[in-house]
Amino acid sequence: MFDVPSILYIVVPCYNECEVFPYTVKELTNLMDDLVDKNKISSFSRILFVDDGSKDNTWELISNSFESNKYVCGLKLAGNVGHQNALFAGLMAAASKCDITISIDADLQDDVAAIYEMVDKYYEGNDIVYGVRSDRKNDTFFKRTTAQSFYKLMNGMGVKTVYNHADFRLMSVRAVEQLSNYKERNLFLRGIVPLIGYKTDCVYYERKERLAGTSKYPLKKMINFAFDGITSFSIKPISFIFTLGLIIIICSLIAAIYSLIAFFIGNTVPGWTSLMLSIWFLGGVQLVSIGVIGQYIGKIYMESKERPRYNIEVFLSDEERNT
Ligand code: UDP
Ligand code: MG
Repeated sequence: MFDVPSILYIVVPCYNECEVFPYTVKELTNLMDDLVDKNKISSFSRILFVDDGSKDNTWELISNSFESNKYVCGLKLAGNVGHQNALFAGLMAAASKCDITISIDADLQDDVAAIYEMVDKYYEGNDIVYGVRSDRKNDTFFKRTTAQSFYKLMNGMGVKTVYNHADFRLMSVRAVEQLSNYKERNLFLRGIVPLIGYKTDCVYYERKERLAGTSKYPLKKMINFAFDGITSFSIKPISFIFTLGLIIIICSLIAAIYSLIAFFIGNTVPGWTSLMLSIWFLGGVQLVSIGVIGQYIGKIYMESKERPRYNIEVFLSDEERNT
């Protein structure tokens, strides 16, 4: 089926990565050479560096290696748009030129050796292959615990993500084309990619330490990212308000019985019973009402994303039969 090796584009978003860039180019170039030698990928394969509005001389380094290294291509964004958007831009630019894309961070914390297995799995018929960290012992305790609680929270909120998978993944060009149908502006690729469908698989690798430079995801950005991930995919927080309102109404009924008994026994000050009842009951009613309105807003929000209703994998039709 795959007589001619496919064209691979490795997409690497870079933001102020001039320290690590020389190592990254070297390592990825060796990998490309080896893959081409082994006839696993076409010699038209490329490494596409996306400069996400870096303030240092990252773009200079990219354009210099474009001159000297036949594998290197560069895409310079006009300003900093964040990791997810930069990656998306790279994937879209690559889609018209290749058969397979692989996204990887510039710091090469993800093991490039796993790319061999990813490519093999692509030839076995997978459209999406996730790189999954088998262990995180090289992450700091803080990064590890926050990241893992994040995955658990996302799952609890009903957002399907692949546990311990970041943005190191292989996508076939048709999967990337489907991805372009997801029109949302708040991009959270780890949540969208599992929605695409198709045959998928995982490869496992050990996550390494950053080769050079510092993390571009400080705590503030991480919290924003997590918050974005949840609010871009889940309307569970709205349902939570509704449920809370119902619980408070039930509590208010219990409080009603209690305060009526207290009233008839006679050990209350005047006005206490009616105050008690109205505070609890009205509180509950208000929360339920906000919850109901919220449900409608949730629907509007889901509609406004204009996500595709389905993605077609195969269509066996008469045209197909005649060819
Ligand atoms: N990155 C980017 N734009 C940004 C922030 C980060 O393109 O605004 C890139 C960065 O260059 C790297 C990747 O996203 O290739 C992941 O960032 P980093 O390694 O700093 O995150 P961490 O691994 O610490 O979570
Ligand atoms: Mg990193």
